[in-house]
Amino acid sequence: MPASPLDILQSVFGYASFRDPQQAIVEHVTEGGDALVLMPTGGGKSLCYQIPALLRQGTGVVVSPLIALMQDQVDALREAGVSAAYLNSSLDAQQQREVERQLLAGELNLLYVAPERLLTVRFLELLERTEVALFAIDEAHCVSQWGHDFRPEYRELTVLHQRFAQVPRIALTATADPRTREEIAERLALQDARQFVSSFDRPNIRYAIALRHNPRSQLLGFLDGHRGDAGIIYCLSRRKVDETAAWLSEAGIEALPYHAGLDAATRAANQQRFLREDGIVMVATVAFGMGIDKPDVRFVAHLDLPRSMEGYYQETGRAGRDGLPAEAWMVYGLADVVTMSQMIAQSESGDDRKRIERSKLDSLLSYAEATQCRRELLLSAFGERFAGPCGNCDNCLQPPKTWDATVQAQKALSAVYRSGQRYGSGHVIDILRGIEGERMSQLGHDRLTTFGIGADMDEKQWRSVFRQLLAAGLLATDPEGFGTLRLTAASRDVLVGQRAIHMREETRPARRASRRRDS
Ligand code: ADP
Ligand code: ZN
Repeated sequence: MPASPLDILQSVFGYASFRDPQQAIVEHVTEGGDALVLMPTGGGKSLCYQIPALLRQGTGVVVSPLIALMQDQVDALREAGVSAAYLNSSLDAQQQREVERQLLAGELNLLYVAPERLLTVRFLELLERTEVALFAIDEAHCVSQWGHDFRPEYRELTVLHQRFAQVPRIALTATADPRTREEIAERLALQDARQFVSSFDRPNIRYAIALRHNPRSQLLGFLDGHRGDAGIIYCLSRRKVDETAAWLSEAGIEALPYHAGLDAATRAANQQRFLREDGIVMVATVAFGMGIDKPDVRFVAHLDLPRSMEGYYQETGRAGRDGLPAEAWMVYGLADVVTMSQMIAQSESGDDRKRIERSKLDSLLSYAEATQCRRELLLSAFGERFAGPCGNCDNCLQPPKTWDATVQAQKALSAVYRSGQRYGSGHVIDILRGIEGERMSQLGHDRLTTFGIGADMDEKQWRSVFRQLLAAGLLATDPEGFGTLRLTAASRDVLVGQRAIHMREETRPARRASRRRDS
């Protein structure tokens, strides 16, 4: 009798049972089906192609962009008695020939290969003389220009479908916003593949975000609740990492710095201490964390805004891998927004990329400013509907003070509508504030009834209103990312006065906030 998926799971990998979608995926691919798998980091993606590769005839070919992780995977597989190898630029010519020989001789269960290698004429010809069990495309979001790890070679991978139509393909990723998902399916010719979408919810993580007014005392206050806990504190710049680690140490907290500007030995030593000792706080730039598997990280703190919702999700996701309560805490200031906008504007990227980056920053800001359940918003950024409130985020636990911004929202929506739903927030805000200019009069927008009806608020306040409307789905932007605003089906309720809009107290126009407290 042939082995079953469960036999392999137990005898080869030593696990008692499958985690939720694993078994369905393994069965589907083993039977020759194509699959698109969206599962958060740590969810257990590898087994989804490793087990089918063992169950099917021939070699499972795994495309992976991360050379370091390839080696780890192959080492682990060999230890479990699986015949596995990898092909990438780290091998010399003789080692490569040996792997190729094994492949042709049918001696390999699994072969990991970098995309640029896979796409060479030589390797594709080699594959044609080989029995291929399946193709697994790991980190499949690399095909997406929308994502943060775009790899042009990934776009060429449709060749697998063209040349090996009968071989099942499984694409896997932990980045799952709906736009990326669509792009993966389209670019890898996986429109007909079965999609397996796991929940990205991390119920044990408590989310909290506050405006930064006195970062040191805010951070110390937060850390008071985490004495002796291991945690990560993310900062935007290396200098801030060094400074923060230094003053925390002076304050009696065991804090170590980590960023790409430190020499390799210091980085390695700090990382080892974080992994091996209890209660170390790592102060780091985003350079820290990839591939770090420490289950008992009790908190992740951000002293600056991350780059995007995906970045935020990934970084905060390093907390509480063990399933025990953990906290994701962030303070941010409007100065961050200015800094990040400048970084985007001055970067080497093309205009398309800059547009994408700006729109990502906006999504993150609207998340930070939101008054609804954070979990609901975070998961909806990944296309997941979560019926909040979750009861485990700051907005659920201590509903923020808000002001009634319904009239402002109505003004904003009508200005979008009256100007033809063809402009970005910058121009619409100019209309609202009644900013005269050549373009304004050329377009005739200074004659709109909405021209100047929002002069009581400044640009910053209006921007916040627009971000809130976007976050609440009351406005949408064009799919190309130009930032032009359109009404949505839900806008009507606000326009006709059937729905009230509340916004955070901090965003209230100053002259209205007569009893504002400094806390
Ligand atoms: P991902 O690639 O989704 O980040 P991995 O495949 O690396 O996740 O798996 C994450 C961890 O979970 C690994 O340590 C793996 O051995 C473990 N794991 C995966 N599936 C199971 C299972 N069914 N039972 C127990 N542990 C599992
Ligand atoms: Zn909540």
